[in-house]
Order: sequence, then C-alpha cells, then structure tokens
Amino acid sequence: MGGMSITYDLHSHSLASDGTLAPDALLRAAHAAGVDVLALTDHDTTDGLAEAAATAGALGMQLVPGVEVSVSWQGQTVHVLGLGIDPASPELQAGLAGLREFRDWRAEEIGRRLARAGIGGAYTGARALAQGRIVSRTHFAQFLVEKGHADSVRDVFRRFLVNNRPGYVSGRWAELETALGWIRAAGGLALIAHPARYRMTSTKLRRLIGEFRECGGVGMEVVSGSHSRDNVQAMAALCRNQGLLASSGSDFHDPENCWIRLGELPALPAGCKPVWESEHWPLQ
Ligand code: AMP
Ligand code: MN
Ligand code: MN
Ligand code: MN
Repeated sequence: MGGMSITYDLHSHSLASDGTLAPDALLRAAHAAGVDVLALTDHDTTDGLAEAAATAGALGMQLVPGVEVSVSWQGQTVHVLGLGIDPASPELQAGLAGLREFRDWRAEEIGRRLARAGIGGAYTGARALAQGRIVSRTHFAQFLVEKGHADSVRDVFRRFLVNNRPGYVSGRWAELETALGWIRAAGGLALIAHPARYRMTSTKLRRLIGEFRECGGVGMEVVSGSHSRDNVQAMAALCRNQGLLASSGSDFHDPENCWIRLGELPALPAGCKPVWESEHWPLQ
C-alpha cells in the first residue's frame, strides 16, 4: 500500500434525512475510520451540509457537499446523487422543496394505509422519530420495529412499505431530466446511485444510463455498501462499456445497522475511471 492513497466515501446520510448521526458525529466517525473525503448525500435535503462543513474544516477532512435526489423513472424509484453541489442554488432548493412536499403527503398516506391494515399511530410515530426533519420510510420502519410488528428494519422492507404490502405508496418523485437540471444548476455532478439495487434487466439499466447521459449525467456507483461482490463486478463492466465515471460510497445511515462500516469499502475494480480522477471533479 502506498502511503499517499486517499480514502473516498461518496455517499452517506445524517439526521437531516434518515441517518442516525448528526452531521458533526458522522464526520467524526468517518474521520476516525480513516475516510479522507466524505460526501454527505441526504435524501432530498441539504440541511446537514453547513454543520458537516464546519466539522470537516475542524478535522482537516474534505467534505463533498451532496444530495441524493429521489427520481421516478418508468414507474420505478431511482436515486441520483448530486456531488459538489452549491446548496445555495435557488433551482436546486425549489426542486428539493417540492420533493419534500410529496414526502409529507406520502407520510400521511402511509399512515392511513397502515391504519387500514390494523397498525395505528404510525404517522405520528414516524414523525416523532424524524424529529421535524424529512420523514422517510426508514422512520416508519423504526416505528414498526419498536412496536413489535417486525424484527428488524430489513424485515420491515420485506413485509411492509413495498409493492403489494401494507403501507405501500407509489413514488411520484422528480423526472430524471428535471432532477439533473437542478443538479446542473447547482454546479454538481450527477451519478446514478446503487444501480444494482433496482433489479432492472440489463437492457433496462442500459436504457436508464442512455437517458441519464443525455440529460448530462456523468457516472454511476460501482462500489456501494448495498452492492454484493457480484453486483460490483457487473456494475464495473457496465460502467466501463458505457464510458461512465465510477463512484464508490457506503450509503452509511447508522452505526448499529449498516451495509458496510465506514472506511471499509473495497477498491474500485481495475479499468473503472474514478469520478475523483476526472476533469469534472469539483474538488482538487
Ligand atoms: P424513502 O426515500 O422514504 O422511500 O426511503 C428509502 C430509504 O429506505 C432508503 O434510502 C433506505 O435508507 C431505506 N431502505 C430501503 N430499502 C431498505 C432495505 N431493504 N433495508 C434497509 N433499508 C432500506
Ligand atoms: Mn436512506
Ligand atoms: Mn438510495
Ligand atoms: Mn443513500
């Protein structure tokens, strides 16, 4: 190992969305785990970035200001990362505010549907867990586990809140082109988050990549906390033959309950061009 290698983690969540650590604590945990460059990419909000930037400065770490935008594409929810965004962008903020309005309506609707399935108090419970920040299905999952309706958050996502299960509400998020417009307006780079998680056929995934690129998208996550080793190999091959830049991120939410621990991401497979080595990379 060369002593000069830099450890990147370009996907993480704080209390501003559905993570369990405050931005300050997240940066400290990442720093302690040996991460040199961390992107904070909360769902549909940039509210954690100011606190994260202050801590990053104090620790001598590099913070990549980011966001994970919820998109609806061909009837499915797809997540798009915007990295190196300027959170002061009015276009970006107006767009994210619209997504949060849908989130608020959806949270009430999830509560009504769970009530019809015999589970009361879910909206109030999830709201309380979200502590006035965005309400995510993760908060409903925490509520359902606390009330003994499921053994774990993973178990919830098998039995509730997903298609054909109680508490499911279909997403009506941003259009792909619209979301990429916001990211571009904010000066950020757009990347497809955890592409292997969508369970798309490779034909459909290539169609997504084609449209994504036409809208100005430049890369995709190859290494993700939620990708298996086989997923990483498959996404690396796709990334190379589609000529996209490759990214790597833990998608960290919670030290007690994570896909992969901070600082323990595997290396990008050979032949992938890392997004941080591209001329587009916002931080040098
Ligand atoms: P939302 O954006 O509110 O629909 O919530 C989506 C979030 O739920 C994701 O960002 C994950 O944090 C979480 N999630 C989705 N599926 C799972 C799963 N199978 N296990 C654990 N968490 C999940
Ligand atoms: Mn999440
Ligand atoms: Mn995601
Ligand atoms: Mn994420």
